[in-house]
Amino acid sequence: MSNVRYVLISGAGIAGSALAYWLHRYGFGVTVVEQADSIREGGYPVDLRGSAMDVAERMGILPDLRQAHIHSARASFVDEEGEKVASVAPEWITGGVRGHDVELPRGTLAALLYSITRDDIDYRFNDSVIELIDEGDEVSVAFKSGARKSFDLVIGADGIHSNIRRLAFGPEDWFTRPIGFCYAGFSMRNTRGLSREAVCYNVPGRMAALYAAGHQPAEVFALLAFAHPYLLGERGREPSFQKDLTAHAFAGAGWILPELIEAMRVSKDFYFDVVQQIRMPRWTRGRVGLVGDAAYAPSFLTGQGSSLALVGAYILAGELAMNASHEQAFAAYQLKLYPFVEMNQATVEQGRSGMIPVTLEQLRERNSAMCCETASTEALPSRGRPAHAAMDLSEYDHLASAISLP
Ligand SMILES: Cc1cc2nc3c(=O)[nH]c(=O)nc-3n(C[C@H](O)[C@H](O)[C@H](O)COP(=O)(O)OP(=O)(O)OC[C@H]3O[C@@H](n4cnc5c(N)ncnc54)[C@H](O)[C@@H]3O)c2cc1C
Repeated sequence: MSNVRYVLISGAGIAGSALAYWLHRYGFGVTVVEQADSIREGGYPVDLRGSAMDVAERMGILPDLRQAHIHSARASFVDEEGEKVASVAPEWITGGVRGHDVELPRGTLAALLYSITRDDIDYRFNDSVIELIDEGDEVSVAFKSGARKSFDLVIGADGIHSNIRRLAFGPEDWFTRPIGFCYAGFSMRNTRGLSREAVCYNVPGRMAALYAAGHQPAEVFALLAFAHPYLLGERGREPSFQKDLTAHAFAGAGWILPELIEAMRVSKDFYFDVVQQIRMPRWTRGRVGLVGDAAYAPSFLTGQGSSLALVGAYILAGELAMNASHEQAFAAYQLKLYPFVEMNQATVEQGRSGMIPVTLEQLRERNSAMCCETASTEALPSRGRPAHAAMDLSEYDHLASAISLP
């Protein structure tokens, strides 16, 4: 029986709502604090694969995921004139398994997880933690709204720029591993009539991609990624600086880059970041823990962030339910999940070389490898990357029915 009863989770994203779901199912009291005023649908597409699909099955959300599945037919690569260089099944790039994995907008996944927990969980929107005091037997928390409350545990599920990590573990730059790229993401009108597909254009060290998440959607998601070895500092937080930097990186590039840069300048959901991983020697400290991107963001180049978030939430909740103390649970969470996280973070180079070749030679090699694949798209591997399915979940099978805390 656990010494933990009430848990505060910061962040109602993938990891936060999934953790809330499992903790509630195991009998814990849960409050989730989210800085946004609501859960928003849509956004860029994310994949769920391997072990994360096993967690989704245990949550009973597979039918909803299949319903929301985008069914991307292909990823096409074009040259500066827009002529197709190659067209492959998306799994050829992501290392996923066709017919097993699902791909859906991140916001749709977040909304689904919220919808299955909202009746049981105390969600507080428009609020955030501003102070944490670990008093040994509980954590005293001050909120931006002015409220103050104590919890047995506080878990940061507040994404790659985690507030809880900063408050309890230290400044972000202690834990980031930049991959050497920046990216800008935004929505724009689907002027090319794209339908359930991705179209990518590369010049060495740069990638521009459009994702159509549905049958001829009104809007597509645009991603502009480019090599940028420097840390950006304070100025790097200004959207006008970020847009100029992105436009400069793609100056003179072909395809429809002028149209993309124009759309970026006026977009309402422009988002910019450094491509980075979060690597920490420990994900917990005292009565505070981290889950998902906050603890082990693998970067979008692995396509594994949502899957790690879902699996991490399941393992953390399972260990809290099985262990007598949070110290034991936290230690087991770290020990059991760490190899899975390491394996998946290590796939970043595979993703990078497939998506953003940095020299002309690498780009030509990638394109000619894809041209061969174009002829044999049916010959996709039936198993995905081993890292995706490497987490053994069997020891948690008995939990949901057997454990219910008083
Ligand atoms: C362009 C792009 C493409 C991607 N593609 C894929 C892919 O194909 N497959 C994949 O698996 N992953 C992909 N990812 C990564 C994926 O989106 C993340 O890894 C995943 O969403 C992590 O979930 P999370 O719950 O840990 O964090 P998030 O989804 O970031 O959620 C964090 C939540 O915390 C909230 N929050 C933040 N700060 C505070 C605060 N101070 N107080 C309260 N709440 C706060 C946020 O509003 C948000 O709701 C991609 C990411 C990007 C940017």
